[in-house]
Amino acid sequence: MSSEHERFKKMVEDSQDVFWEFDENANFTYLSRKIKDLLGFEPEELIGLNAFNLMSADEAERVRRYFDPISKRHLPFKHLENINIHKDGHEVIIESSGTPIFDEEGLFRGYRGIDRDISARKQVETFLRESEERFRTIAEMLPGAVFELDLQGNLRFASRRAFELFGYSAEDFNQGLNAFEMVVPKERALARDRMHQRISGEEVGGVEYTALRKDGSTFPVILNMIPLIKGHEPVGFLGIMTDITERKLAEDSLRKSQELLIETQRIANMGSWIFDAETNQATWSEEAYRIFGVTPQTFIPSYINFLNIVHPDDRAFVEETYSKSLDEGRETSEFEHRIIRMNTGEVGYVHLKCRHEYHPDGTRSRTVGMLQDITDRKKNELALQLASKSAEFANRAKSIFLAKVSHEIRTPLTAIVGFGELMEDAELTTEHRKYLDAINSAGSTLSLLINDILDLSKVESGELVIKQEVFSLQEHIKKLIDIQKQQNTNKNLSFDVSIDSDVPESLVGDQYRIQQIMLNLLGNAIKFTEKGSVDLAVSLAEKSGYGILLDIAVKDTGIGIPTGLQEQIFEPFFQGFDSRSHHCGGSGLGLTISQSLAGLMGGTIRVESQEGVGSTFHLIIPIQIKIDNRSENHLPEKERLHWSGPALKVLLAEDNPINIQLVKAVLENMGHVVTVAENGMVALDTLQANTFDLMLMDIQMPVMDGIDALSVLRDQEQISGKHLMVIALTAYALIGDKEKYLKMGFDGYLSKPFTTKALVDELVRVMPRENFAFITK
Ligand code: ADP
Repeated sequence: MSSEHERFKKMVEDSQDVFWEFDENANFTYLSRKIKDLLGFEPEELIGLNAFNLMSADEAERVRRYFDPISKRHLPFKHLENINIHKDGHEVIIESSGTPIFDEEGLFRGYRGIDRDISARKQVETFLRESEERFRTIAEMLPGAVFELDLQGNLRFASRRAFELFGYSAEDFNQGLNAFEMVVPKERALARDRMHQRISGEEVGGVEYTALRKDGSTFPVILNMIPLIKGHEPVGFLGIMTDITERKLAEDSLRKSQELLIETQRIANMGSWIFDAETNQATWSEEAYRIFGVTPQTFIPSYINFLNIVHPDDRAFVEETYSKSLDEGRETSEFEHRIIRMNTGEVGYVHLKCRHEYHPDGTRSRTVGMLQDITDRKKNELALQLASKSAEFANRAKSIFLAKVSHEIRTPLTAIVGFGELMEDAELTTEHRKYLDAINSAGSTLSLLINDILDLSKVESGELVIKQEVFSLQEHIKKLIDIQKQQNTNKNLSFDVSIDSDVPESLVGDQYRIQQIMLNLLGNAIKFTEKGSVDLAVSLAEKSGYGILLDIAVKDTGIGIPTGLQEQIFEPFFQGFDSRSHHCGGSGLGLTISQSLAGLMGGTIRVESQEGVGSTFHLIIPIQIKIDNRSENHLPEKERLHWSGPALKVLLAEDNPINIQLVKAVLENMGHVVTVAENGMVALDTLQANTFDLMLMDIQMPVMDGIDALSVLRDQEQISGKHLMVIALTAYALIGDKEKYLKMGFDGYLSKPFTTKALVDELVRVMPRENFAFITK
C-alpha cells in the first residue's frame, strides 16, 4: 500500500465522524471503526446489512424518500438529520452527508458518505427553544409591557400587552420601532442617561416616565430594566413597563385631600391626632405639631412627651381627666388646658376633645382627638376681664372718694346753713340782709347738690340696695301732693291726680325710691312750666299673673324738650337747652339718678315731649303685688301659655334680678328650661358647654355687655356654621333702636320693662314657625 493510502486510512480511522459506503440496495459495503462509538456495532456486524434497518419503520420511510428508487434521481445530500437506533436500543440523532457512486459505464452503484452524532447539539437547541417559549409565555402573562431592546433602543421583542398599551401593530413593529419614541420627547435624554447608568452596572431601580402612545396621548409608567450581556459585553436590555395611571390618580387624590386637611386645620388653628392602643403609637397632624411648637423630625408624639408640653400646673388635671374618662369607659372627653410651646416657651391655651373607641370586651382600641389653639380667645377674655375689673375698681374708688368728700363738705356746710338761719333774726342793714339771703340760698343749693352726688355715687358703687317692702301707693301720692302744693304756690298751675281703679292698694317695692323719682319728675314739671297744668296719672301698663307693670306719668304744659335732646337730659350734669334750666336751680343730676334708680328696680323712665307744648315723663316699673284676699284688686289667675312645640332651652343673659325673676317665670310657665348668665362673658362660657335654642340678652351688663358678647358669638358661628336666635333686651329705648340692634345681628328686640305679651309676641316672631301653635288663655 502506498504511503498516501496509509495516511488516508489513518485520517478516516481517527476522524470523529463515521465513514460509510453502501450499494444500490443500501446494503453496507464499508463502515469505519467509529461506528462502534456511534451505534455500538462493530463494522463487521453491519456489513451486508441494510442501512434502513438501523432506523424505526417510520423514520426509514421518511429517509427513504431521499433515495427514491422510482425517480432514480441519485443526488448528493448534505446534513440530512435522521434517527438511528443504538445497539442497546436508544435513539441517536445523526447528521448524514453523502454522494452517489457510479461505475465506468455510468451505472448507479450506491452511496458513500459520513455520519456525525449531533445528539448533544440537538439537546442544546431544544433547551434553547423551550426556554425561549417559556420566556414568551411569561412575557405575555405579565400585566406590564415586556420589551427587549438593543443598545440603540431598537425593539427586538415586544409583548402583546406592549402593543395594546402603546397602540402599535405587529406591522409597525416589523418596520422597526425605537423605544425612545415611546417616551415623551422631554424625558428622552433622561431615559438615555438611565440606560447608560444601567450598562455601567449602576442599580437604577424602577424609574417613572411619561409614556407616549402612537396616537400622541400620554400616560404615566414605571420602567424596570436589566442589561442583556453576551460574553462580557452588554448587547441590549430587557425591560418591563407598568401603566401606573390608576396609582397616580389615587396618589393625586390622596395628596389633594391631605393638602386640604392641612390647610383647613391651619386656618382653624385646629390639630388632630390618633392613638392606636394596640401598637401604643400616636399620629399627629401637621397643625398639632405646630400648635405644640415641635417638629415631626425631632419629636416623638407619645402621651408622655405630650404631658411634657402641658403646663406644669395643669398636668395633674389633664392626666386625671383623661385617665378618668378611660376608667369610666366613657366615649368622649373634653377639656381646656395650658401648654408651654416647645419652640418659644410661650404659654398657650388649647381646647381638647377626643373620642375613645373600645373592643366588645371593653378594652380600648383607639382614641381619635382634635385640639384647637384658643390662645387668642383666652388672652382676649383675660384682658377683657382685667380691663373691666380695673374699670370697676376705678369707678368704685371714684364713688368712695365722692362719698367721702361730700360727707366732709357737709359738716362745714351744715354749720354755714345753720348759722345763716340764726342770723335771719339778727338786726341787719338792708345790704347785709341781701348778702345773707345769697349765702342762705347758695347754702341750700349746695346741700341739695351734695345729696344728689351722694345718691349717684351710691348707685354707681353698687351700695344702693333696693328694698322690697309692702306699701300703699295712694298714701305716698297724698304726701306728694302736699309737698308739691307748697312748691306750686306762686305759679297757680292746676294740679290733677288720677289713679286707675285697677292699681292695687298694696304693692311690694322700694317706696322711698319710687317717691324720690316722682318728686324729681314733679319738681321738674313745675320748674319748667309757667302756666297751664301739671298732672300725675297712675295706671297699669300690664297686669298679669306675674305681677304688674306700673306706669306713673307726670305730664306738664311747660317748655318741652327738643327731640334731639330727649336722650341727653338723662346724662349727668345735663342742664340744657333753655336759660331757665340754669336759673331754676338744680344740678343736672336729678334725671340721671332717677333713671338709675328705675333701672335698679327693673324699670325705666321714658319721655314724650314737644317743644313749647309740654312733656310727659313715664316711670314704668315692674312691681310685685301683695296678695290680699279682702282687696278688690284680685290678680288674675296665672295665665297658662300653651306651647305645642318641643320645650326650648333658653339662655337668659341678664344682670337685673327683677327682670330675671319675671322672664324666668314667663318662660318656665310655657314649659321652657331657662339658664341664667349674669353677664356676656358668663353667657359665652355657658354656650361653650351647652346648646340652646334661644338666647335673651340684655345690652347693659357688667364685665361684657350684650353687643360685645353677640359679636363674639356671631364670629364663632362663622366657623361652626350654626345660628343661635338672640333677642336683645334694652333699657333705654329710642326710636330707631330696633333697626339698629337687628342690623348688629340680633334676631329680635325688646325694650325693658316689657309686658309678658310683648315677650311672647317677640318669641313667636323670632322662632321658626313650626315650633308654635300656642294659645293664651
Ligand atoms: P335739673 O336738676 O337741672 O332739673 P334734671 O336731671 O332733673 O336736672 O334735668 C335735666 C334737664 O332736663 C333740665 O335741666 C331740663 O333742661 C330738662 N328737663 C327735665 N325735666 C323737664 C321738663 N319737665 N320740661 C322741660 N325740660 C325738662
